Amino acid sequence: AMAAKLIDGKAIAEDIRKELKAEVEVLKAKYGKTPGLAVVLVGERKDSQTYVRNKKKACEEVGIVSYGTDLPETASEEEVLKVVADYNADPSVHGILVQLPLPKHIDEQRVLDAISIEKDVDGFHPLNIGALAMRGRDPLFVPCTPKGCLELLKRSGVQLSGKRAAVVGRSNIVGMPAALLLQREDATVTVIHSRTPDAQRICAEADIIIAACGKAEMVEGDWVKEGAAVIDVGINAVDDPSAKRGYRLVGDVNFAQAAERAECITPVPGGVGPMTIAMLLRNCVDGATRAFAAGH
Ligand code: NDP
Repeated sequence: AMAAKLIDGKAIAEDIRKELKAEVEVLKAKYGKTPGLAVVLVGERKDSQTYVRNKKKACEEVGIVSYGTDLPETASEEEVLKVVADYNADPSVHGILVQLPLPKHIDEQRVLDAISIEKDVDGFHPLNIGALAMRGRDPLFVPCTPKGCLELLKRSGVQLSGKRAAVVGRSNIVGMPAALLLQREDATVTVIHSRTPDAQRICAEADIIIAACGKAEMVEGDWVKEGAAVIDVGINAVDDPSAKRGYRLVGDVNFAQAAERAECITPVPGGVGPMTIAMLLRNCVDGATRAFAAGH
């Protein structure tokens, strides 16, 4: 029997898009200008093309103008850097997103570091990550997926200050910034990774779990404290002959087991996933708001 309250990421993301649409209208009325996002895609990966298409469509829905540059797989690093430099200089662009992964011959770090921190809507620039880690500093942008996790917790009324949190995973794009965000909210955070002994025991003491390890259903029922809040970032395809496509998506948490003990929990799909794009749009609007206020 499921006891937990479901954290409906799809509905929350929908609310956020409505809020952003209204904010974009206010910006237009006040400054006569519209927020703009530039998306750079290198190569022909089908999954990347789908992500880019979805991001552009989401922009249009809230009134953000999307620009795009598609470069062939064979594009040189210099060509990609030139595209980034042009968008850095373009006052109608307030966010620049380089779709990852880049082809192997291109130095991903060098390209990401070239994005102006004022337009770093993915929040991956080391200066933005550094500010996130430091007391008394505020990053211009926070990475979208962990920002979405925190937004889900806040909008579900989960108290963070003084609570124990466990983050499973320490990647640059999810686990590490999620842990920093929780710490900024005065939670006491333990970061679990592939060499951590006793991951189960650490999680079982946590009031909040953010699971981002990329291992299907690793966080089982007895990893979850009674009354905990559970945010499942994982997206894993597992074989399922009874499903139409031959597979189904599961998270990094065993949902059925965890839901018997948690106070609230995100489903997969429909939890963190929809929040990632909503936070990208949030970052674009924030970037534009700052630029307009500064007279750019
Ligand atoms: P990475 O593979 O980059 O990182 C996984 C992390 O989990 C690593 O820090 C790794 O440890 C740790 N880990 C792996 N196995 C274990 C284990 N057995 N026990 C404890 N820790 C372990 O993944 P990402 O952070 O990019 O993504 C995590 C998950 O989130 C994936 O399922 C991905 O698909 C999903 N995702 C979802 C998004 C969304 O929008 N909802 C966006 C981005 C990702 P170590 O550092 O030691 O290797």
